Amino acid sequence: MCGIFAITNNKNAPHFTFLGLFALQHRGQESAGIAVENANGIIYYTGMGLVSEVFSNNVLENLKGENAIGHVRYSTAGSSDIINAQPLFFNSSFGQMAIAHNGNLTNAKKLWRWLQHQGAIFQSASDSEIIAHLISKYPAGNIETSLAKNLRKLQGAFSFVFLFKGRVIAARDPFGFRPLLLGKVGKSYIFASESCAIEAVGGKPLRELAPGEMAVVSGGKIRFRMFSRKRRERKCIFEQVYFARPDTVVSQRTVHSTRCEIGELLAGENPDLKADIVAGVPDSGTAYALGFSRRSGIALQNVFMRNRYTGRSFIQPNQKMRDFTARLKLAPIKDVIKRKTIILIDDSLVRGTTSRKIISSLKKAGAKKVFMLIASPPVISPCLWGIDTPTKKELIAAKLSIAKIKNFIGADSLRYLTLKNLVRACANGLRTGFCDACFTGNSALSNK
Ligand code: AMP
Repeated sequence: MCGIFAITNNKNAPHFTFLGLFALQHRGQESAGIAVENANGIIYYTGMGLVSEVFSNNVLENLKGENAIGHVRYSTAGSSDIINAQPLFFNSSFGQMAIAHNGNLTNAKKLWRWLQHQGAIFQSASDSEIIAHLISKYPAGNIETSLAKNLRKLQGAFSFVFLFKGRVIAARDPFGFRPLLLGKVGKSYIFASESCAIEAVGGKPLRELAPGEMAVVSGGKIRFRMFSRKRRERKCIFEQVYFARPDTVVSQRTVHSTRCEIGELLAGENPDLKADIVAGVPDSGTAYALGFSRRSGIALQNVFMRNRYTGRSFIQPNQKMRDFTARLKLAPIKDVIKRKTIILIDDSLVRGTTSRKIISSLKKAGAKKVFMLIASPPVISPCLWGIDTPTKKELIAAKLSIAKIKNFIGADSLRYLTLKNLVRACANGLRTGFCDACFTGNSALSNK
């Protein structure tokens, strides 16, 4: 998963892109990058780590230009390496260009081999590079027509922002798997993965780009065109379950409100569950627990202190040290837990490792019983479109029955939300088509 941002015709473009990426940090922490365009052409800077680590004031001061695009990366295709950091930069027959991409292309291998066979030399291992080779190899008049024609060759998930001389172009795949929003601040147009990034620069979100739509901003004016025929929308439902920031608006309400409603629906599905307290696994489970408490009347409590200063646990040199860091991240609040029957809610259960650790920590702190609730259905299938779910072999719900998963995580009971109620809350009464292949295994449907 990744986050993308673009802003046009703004003298603060590099700084606003920095702020936009900062707001999208939750979508990727491996690398960050910004490309800006000025009278001398495109310049760009990328680095490994968090936005605030990559962009010092010095670096930002050297990026001057009024059009900019940016990217934060969470690798799902290609390794975590500076060579795959985006925006990617190219010199093409259309002049200089920079690309930032969110999503996974499902026909990347095929296109990759085919382009290599035609003589293309790839500089990164990321599937995002393919579109640059396609438009170079198969130009069709101007850059817009060329992009429109070649985007049709891509399959899978893509939200793109492109930076060319005097032009920013944004495009969203024909199924709309990954989000991409249009916004405005003053006279400047903004494109961003989430509304929270548009609001971070004082902008106003206007609308989502439609599946298969392309927006071109040049000379301060915006134009729209469809590059693909209209398909049934397949918006990723996992965005609302886990990925999106709580203050981001999806389906005309904040993700926080959707999660609270899911919590209420969970309470409605489980009226027989009785406990002293209900708690969410911080931070992703907190809104669900709030909704559950509201509907059930069971008191909401914090059972963990989440330490925000631990950084990324993989930096530690060995497993033992990594385990310590994991423990530092979530510390049990003992007197709240002791002798209590606890309903614990998390957004999802993937490998089962988080729940197992957390339940063991609650039990060590004296919890009498832990009833685990998951605010989404069992994840039984890997995501082909960019969510970092492991292979089927590692997905616990693809291998074990719910009773066996319950034993593995050490819970006294384990229940999941029904897909019907998840879709109901995420759609919020709108006619939205979702990709729910991770919960149904129905990936073929999502490709049609
Ligand atoms: P697991 O420990 O493998 O069962 O993963 C479930 C936990 O990871 C939950 O606490 C989620 O909040 C979190 N999670 C779910 N999906 C992802 C993802 N794609 N990347 C990182 N964390 C995730």
